[in-house]
Amino acid sequence: MTKECCWCNFTNEEKQSILFESTYWYVFLADNQDYIGRCVIVLKRHCINLSDLNLSEWIELKELINRLEKCFEKILGAELCNWSCLMNDFYKSATPNPHLHLHARPRYRNAITINGSSYADTEFGHHYQPKKETLLTDDNRKTLFEMMKKFLNQEQK
Ligand SMILES: [Zn+2]
Repeated sequence: MTKECCWCNFTNEEKQSILFESTYWYVFLADNQDYIGRCVIVLKRHCINLSDLNLSEWIELKELINRLEKCFEKILGAELCNWSCLMNDFYKSATPNPHLHLHARPRYRNAITINGSSYADTEFGHHYQPKKETLLTDDNRKTLFEMMKKFLNQEQK
């Protein structure tokens, strides 16, 4: 089962986007930066839904949520975060084999500036747009990645 799951076998290239790693979870900076700082939180073992998480994984997820929300607020100036556990894409297959993950989309009342470029959350106060295009340039993505990685890997107070 796990062999045919690419979420159980990330490539080295995919692992370049890991911002933070804990015992049970990975935090990736999402490819699509439609909402600046958007992350994907992936369980390290194959698990198909939230009800199959064990207590240790839940507790660590709670710690991860604290760490991420603090990062979004302190480093990026986000006012809130939209959390979702969707998994819909896996079910486009006739034989779905979902791998548990969550999406975190920081939301901004005020535009965020990176290297002089300003990014506005034009839907603030509303549901995120599911098909919005990525906003970040490659250089600004790199800057964002380094800022977030540094903060997330600091000892938390
Ligand atoms: Zn898997």
